[in-house]
Amino acid sequence: MFSESHCHIDTKSIDAVKRAEEKGVKLILTAGIDIKSSVEAVRTAEMFPTVKACVGIHPWNADQYSEEAVRKIGELAKASKVVAISEIGLDYVGRRDSEGKFVNEYIDKSIQLELFREQLKLAKKLKLPALVHDRTPDEEVLDVIEEVDLSKVGVAIHGFSKDIYYAQRCINMGIYLSIGQRALFDPNNKSFREIVAKISIEYILTETDSGEPEGVIKVVEKISELKNLDLEYVGETATNNLKKLLKIN
Ligand SMILES: [Zn+2]
Repeated sequence: MFSESHCHIDTKSIDAVKRAEEKGVKLILTAGIDIKSSVEAVRTAEMFPTVKACVGIHPWNADQYSEEAVRKIGELAKASKVVAISEIGLDYVGRRDSEGKFVNEYIDKSIQLELFREQLKLAKKLKLPALVHDRTPDEEVLDVIEEVDLSKVGVAIHGFSKDIYYAQRCINMGIYLSIGQRALFDPNNKSFREIVAKISIEYILTETDSGEPEGVIKVVEKISELKNLDLEYVGETATNNLKKLLKIN
């Protein structure tokens, strides 16, 4: 059994979900990146027994931050199929513009920080875990998580791509590391694969961050190869880790 801890699918993704299910991906988390896509994530989860929703405002969309927007995310989070607050975090590298093109400019750091902190507080209040996007040069994201104190609700860093020290601090804080295809298959990032080989399997989640959750099997395959572990064992363990984080059976 495999699990996808972070993808972006919608109500039109019927074939993509079917393809994933047929290959053994039995738990799929789709994340919103703003109010509109969070509504869509909830609708999508309601269509498929295997899909669960995450709601949140992405740091790329931090210009949409208002108290009202966070309140709306809180309302959406009460739907029965919502399991986490995501996609939230900090990004000091760039963002996707309204046409979906990646640009090297980001929303003001202080606005991103305020939005991130408010959504972490919301997660804590609603007793939902937070799945976090981190594209900053240092450990600021972990500092904010520590400050708000999500130790009782749980956290995962999605698309983990940092160094072993960062990974170690996460593990010390009980934070899961979700491994995605981008860093794992980057031909110029051999050191990342060495880091994955060293991280305890008990803290690993698997994701694609795409619209094709079946791709998570390739991620599990690569992790099992790097760690010299059985494919099924890695898939099962990552799925159990995710269930533990979400407190579901
Ligand atoms: Zn994402």
